[in-house]
Amino acid sequence: MNNKEIQSLRSRITVQINELNEVIAGIKTDPKTSAETCTTPNVDIIDCTKDERDLKDQIRIHNHRIASLGELTGALHRINGGTFGQCQECGDPIGVSRLHARLGATLCIGCQEFFEGSHVAA
Ligand SMILES: [Zn+2]
Repeated sequence: MNNKEIQSLRSRITVQINELNEVIAGIKTDPKTSAETCTTPNVDIIDCTKDERDLKDQIRIHNHRIASLGELTGALHRINGGTFGQCQECGDPIGVSRLHARLGATLCIGCQEFFEGSHVAA
């Protein structure tokens, strides 16, 4: 992976980290989830069932965002440390196309498949 490729990935990672930080901090609302949010405070118990589901969805989405933020922050640290793009398991290059598809990837496709396979088996 050349310097230009790393810089392009770094800028994508930085943009996504900033976006996630803003959404998590509540500065920027994700239009996908805010449309589902109930704005009426005095809903009766039946309506609340849907709200509860929405809330669970939002918590799940929120947790996913926190996890993504962690992955992306880790990727940024690896760029700074010069180990970005290396598989953390076998040390092989992860590959630019895979990194573009998954910016926070820490494993090459071979190791990823191996671990996913062993998770399924376990
Ligand atoms: Zn590997």
